[in-house]
Amino acid sequence: MGMEIVVHRPDVSDGGRVDGQVVVDVVAFDWSGYPVHVQEGSELTFDMQKDGERWILRIHGSVEAETACHRCLATARIELPVDFYARVLARGERLPEDEDEGEDIIPRSKDGKTVDVAPRVREDLILALPTKVLCSSDCRGLCPQCGQDLNLGTCDCPTEEVDPRLAELEKLKAQLSGTDKGTGSDGGR
Ligand SMILES: [Zn+2]
Ligand SMILES: [Zn+2]
Repeated sequence: MGMEIVVHRPDVSDGGRVDGQVVVDVVAFDWSGYPVHVQEGSELTFDMQKDGERWILRIHGSVEAETACHRCLATARIELPVDFYARVLARGERLPEDEDEGEDIIPRSKDGKTVDVAPRVREDLILALPTKVLCSSDCRGLCPQCGQDLNLGTCDCPTEEVDPRLAELEKLKAQLSGTDKGTGSDGGR
């Protein structure tokens, strides 16, 4: 289990570089009440190379995910970009005692052969989440009173009280755009 990158390969010792694809098995996570499901089989590209004595790992790409529209709760698809660098500890190297806060460190497995990147990828996926998800930019949402999905049809709930100034503005806008629906607008032109 886990998203592991195998780093113990013959080519590593001489070339000092490993790269390839890593399958994202962070399947689902919760994001302030909205479940996010990552598309199965999503892959990210990784590249790990030696920089002096340090191993630097980069993981990048993007994954598709499904979550709920914040207005109407219908399924909404989002793309989550991932791109980060982290230092991978050498085999047997311990985490520095006074951790430099700016440094992103991923430990190796005990036998030094693999690196589990799942926690770090998960973090990046969460950071990539937009603050607001909509199924479409013009989603009408749900009626706050009866819960009717206003994308599918209207309901009979009394419309909420509108600020009278806004109402005036709406009237003006309607007049300007010439949408005279002929509902007894007397006295006009
Ligand atoms: Zn929606
Ligand atoms: Zn309603």
